Amino acid sequence: MEKTEITIVGAGVVGLAVALELSKEHKDVLVIEKNPYIGQETSSRNSEVIHAGIYYPKNSLKTRTCIEGKHLLYEFLRQQKIPYKNIGKLIVAINDNEVKDLENLYQHALGNGLVDLRFILENEIRGLEPNIKAKAAIYSPSTGILDAHKFMENLVAQFTGSGGQIAYNTELIGIDKEKDGFAVTVQDKREGSFKFFTRVLINCAGLNSDKVSALAGLIKDEYKLKYCKGDYFRVRHSLGKLINHLVYPVPKEDRAGLGIHATLDLAGGLRLGPDDAYVEKLDYSIDESKKKIFYESVKQFLPFVKLDDLTPDTSGIRPKLQGPKEGFRDFMIKDEADNGLCGLINLIGIESPGLTSALSIARIVSNLQSISHIL
Ligand SMILES: Cc1cc2nc3c(=O)[nH]c(=O)nc-3n(C[C@H](O)[C@H](O)[C@H](O)COP(=O)(O)OP(=O)(O)OC[C@H]3O[C@@H](n4cnc5c(N)ncnc54)[C@H](O)[C@@H]3O)c2cc1C
Repeated sequence: MEKTEITIVGAGVVGLAVALELSKEHKDVLVIEKNPYIGQETSSRNSEVIHAGIYYPKNSLKTRTCIEGKHLLYEFLRQQKIPYKNIGKLIVAINDNEVKDLENLYQHALGNGLVDLRFILENEIRGLEPNIKAKAAIYSPSTGILDAHKFMENLVAQFTGSGGQIAYNTELIGIDKEKDGFAVTVQDKREGSFKFFTRVLINCAGLNSDKVSALAGLIKDEYKLKYCKGDYFRVRHSLGKLINHLVYPVPKEDRAGLGIHATLDLAGGLRLGPDDAYVEKLDYSIDESKKKIFYESVKQFLPFVKLDDLTPDTSGIRPKLQGPKEGFRDFMIKDEADNGLCGLINLIGIESPGLTSALSIARIVSNLQSISHIL
């Protein structure tokens, strides 16, 4: 049987970041990806926002990796000359109740260590954004946007340049624990199925990560993913120049997302979304009838947007550990040695801010005991 030291399942942004980080110390790293190319799932179906780390609980992995990941990412983008813009973001309150919630969010974010945030009022908002309407806002200067594809392409180029390998069209379909590692079975689109041995197996399979874990025998309720879909609508291109920052509403406690917001892309295009709806199946089609809901959600703070300016754009699906109306669940980055599966590292529930956090997540994985002990 062919042997490899480290196998990473999934060539999304997280698997690729982990691959590059590990290739700095280890020579024999293989990424297997079921699709014909990198980042064809959640990593290319998101807002491409570099998040600041405002919303999640203090000391959670989501907050810690987001804040560290943001710094690592800006540095990486600068060094590698990958397109990005540090354009900043406003979270806007449109009435007195929302102002109270916004103040609480501001205190929370300060507690997360985000000392660069500012709480600003109407006058200052008008100076920054003459075309939006809000009573108060949190201004986050460290938020930005990036070209996620170029980022992933760069991760691949550096990884393969240092000897790492990627096998496309190769789906992991079986895992058998052996004495010092795992015999994994893969289905290759051209060559059929075959087995190889790996000492370490890192599960970065995104929307499938609970199923990959189940292949190793770990079928647990707390690992089960729930799919939460987010649709986007594009706004008529000429309106993109009417805002200078990303503009978010105050998040609602009972929602699974941050609220339908206005995101600019690097070409100056403006999108609204994503919304949040739990779904059973992976279906990326967009329900055009939602247009009115999107319009209603933003019309108070983006008064220049009219219903007819919206057209359906893309959608993405969040791999969430928490179900509808359930409490906060963190990223799961777990060395499964304590479940008798030494060498298996599970990354499950890597939803937002996973793109921002990817480089930090990669560091955490490379410092796990299993990896340094086994290899
Ligand atoms: C609507 C939406 C908006 C978002 N916006 C942002 C944002 O603005 N900023 C931010 O920081 N984050 C954002 N996120 C989160 C971010 O996109 C994800 O956290 C990140 O892309 C996850 O990357 P990943 O590599 O874990 O998963 P993926 O990109 O899904 O990659 C997993 C890969 O594993 C492969 N795979 C699965 N099963 C197998 C198998 N059995 N064998 C081989 N390969 C397999 C898949 O084909 C896939 O390529 C958003 C997410 C969504 C859904």
